[in-house]
Amino acid sequence: MCNGDLPIQTEALARKIVIQSDYYVYEDNVLYHLHSSRRKRLNQVDPVVKQLDVPRSLRERVLQEYHDQNSHVGTDEMYESIRNKYFWINMYSDVHLWTKSSLACKAGKPGKQTKAPLKSLQIESTIFERFHIDHLSFQPQTVTSMCYVCVFFACGAFSLYCILLPCYTTSAEETANLLFDNIFMVYGCKSILSDRGAGFMSKLLAELCRLLGIKQIRTSARHPCTNSRCEKFNANILNALRTHCEGYKDCPPLIASERQF
Ligand SMILES: [Zn+2]
Repeated sequence: MCNGDLPIQTEALARKIVIQSDYYVYEDNVLYHLHSSRRKRLNQVDPVVKQLDVPRSLRERVLQEYHDQNSHVGTDEMYESIRNKYFWINMYSDVHLWTKSSLACKAGKPGKQTKAPLKSLQIESTIFERFHIDHLSFQPQTVTSMCYVCVFFACGAFSLYCILLPCYTTSAEETANLLFDNIFMVYGCKSILSDRGAGFMSKLLAELCRLLGIKQIRTSARHPCTNSRCEKFNANILNALRTHCEGYKDCPPLIASERQF
């Protein structure tokens, strides 16, 4: 074929070679594939790219060099860098197969993350059926034993009625006490929704809720959107405290005087 002879035994193969020969050039005993980019701008810059036609025996080496020695890049990125210089038929499939079967990629890269489908919270039948609860912490300027460190915050899901309760810690005991005295015994709610804070995940609170027949709903880890009622109010409360007080040290008396609003 190098001398211009066609395989006359099989006519179909000869015809195929004649058609494809327009896309190949043979220079200094090396076969090149001529590639013209379909992209408008690239086509103007470099109308025809000469790609080295890689024989079967060397393809694995090209794949290895462009993947294993190139930070284990993904299929598309690797294909783009290879096709600037090289060509063979079904190159994209080979690149895809190589990247997908790379053991280092499987071990070192995070897998495909699947998210649970979004579900709306159930609508309550009565006004104080579900309370959204959270701890809201702020840093007082002068930390003394009398300074409030955090605020316990509860919000009725249906009424949007907010209750602010000053507290000293986010411990399980204080949280359970605040809930029992100010929410469970006053409003008789049926469920509480909280994040995964230690105070809300405690066995003490779980046991208290079990005894009172209250359902505990918790948000997924690192997904505070479920408790959006509280998260939104948290920002509003902090803004209100900042605008009303000179500094955080003046906040505690204000919270104590505005326990409910
Ligand atoms: Zn890899």
